[in-house]
Amino acid sequence: MQTYEDIRLAPYTTLRVGGMARRFTVTESSEELASAVTQADSQGTPVFVLGGGSNVLVSDEGFDGSVIHPAQDAIELLGKRGPDERHRVLVRCDAGAAWDDFVRFATERELSGVAALSGIPGCIGSACMQNIGAYGQEMGSSLVSALLLDRLTGSVREASARSLQMGYRTSILRENLEWEREHGGEHFPTPRWVVLSATFGLADDPETAVEHPQLARALGVEVGETQHAAVVRDEVLAVRGSKAMLADGDAGDGRGVDHDRWSSGSFFTNPLLTYEDAQRLPAQAPRFPAHGGIKTSAAWLIEHAGFSRGFGVHGPGSRATLSSRHTLAITNRGNATSADLIELARAVRRGVHDRFGITLEPETVLVGVSL
Ligand SMILES: Cc1cc2nc3c(=O)[nH]c(=O)nc-3n(C[C@H](O)[C@H](O)[C@H](O)COP(=O)(O)OP(=O)(O)OC[C@H]3O[C@@H](n4cnc5c(N)ncnc54)[C@H](O)[C@@H]3O)c2cc1C
Repeated sequence: MQTYEDIRLAPYTTLRVGGMARRFTVTESSEELASAVTQADSQGTPVFVLGGGSNVLVSDEGFDGSVIHPAQDAIELLGKRGPDERHRVLVRCDAGAAWDDFVRFATERELSGVAALSGIPGCIGSACMQNIGAYGQEMGSSLVSALLLDRLTGSVREASARSLQMGYRTSILRENLEWEREHGGEHFPTPRWVVLSATFGLADDPETAVEHPQLARALGVEVGETQHAAVVRDEVLAVRGSKAMLADGDAGDGRGVDHDRWSSGSFFTNPLLTYEDAQRLPAQAPRFPAHGGIKTSAAWLIEHAGFSRGFGVHGPGSRATLSSRHTLAITNRGNATSADLIELARAVRRGVHDRFGITLEPETVLVGVSL
């Protein structure tokens, strides 16, 4: 474990903004991660566990506390376990392992269940909190259990995926984070439970069903048909690359840095509406049945509230704009500050509220800033 003082956070986030962290600790094992968090908590120092920094917007003032960055990144095959796991192969990943390294690891071994989640930036720990999803797949359907540190009691226990209550971009960890944010809780901007490692159950079969219409079209198959996980992975990476939904700063095509990738992915979540509120939307607005109501598309609301791709509050040369590839990502054009990005997010949120009466909620975790 190494601890540094006064480290600028911008290079550790995909939005490339964020001021100084008073302390920055890099851990090399689950035990070190648990002990670094417990020690800072017991000293009353604010704690921010930072994974890949792909879902955070950190203030220009930085973080006056202890940023803890898990660097342990083991991914290991546990084999088949237990009577219920006959067709599943278990893989255990450290919290600091890159999510996409795990997907590549699985695909190379002809295991399926996560190929549609290829290319999502960030680490295993936050993926569990966030229940990441894309192209008809969610992480929660492959998660078997997670090893959690409970910061309130200091205890470590293995929690089943079921007990984490995964939903659309949520889990009890994310719900707790929102609660802590709203109530000024002591654990924010990291939840009360810190993920130390996670175990996934993957199908011992490379053929995987394609559940998303856009992906099925790109692959030339019908929704529900199967494809080899490696083919799905390649196609997802290509589609994500075309939309700047990969985190690499360099587009890799000789054009240099692609600022559309300087984002936190989808900045806002798709809102969940009551049936009555959903009925008030224009007829052509997307509506998807969802647990607890009707979901609509945040991108559709943003576009139909008058914000087009590339929109910036200060016109075309704005330091912060919506992505030029899609409207749901807020991007740093190279020299934006956190304040610039917040100004843009506020303008979009206000515009959608004025037009449709719906308040968009950020998926991105706001650290030291608010909308
Ligand atoms: C270009 C781009 C595309 C994206 N596409 C998608 C997509 O398709 N689908 C999708 O779901 N998301 C997407 N995202 C969002 C992001 O990749 C995910 O939310 C990811 O899981 C964040 O991981 P991270 O390690 O970067 O988290 P960070 O940004 O480091 O942290 C996010 C939150 O998780 C907490 N956290 C970090 N580690 C732990 C831990 N070990 N235990 C508990 N809490 C922890 C942090 O404290 C913070 O509150 C995209 C982002 C980008 C930049």
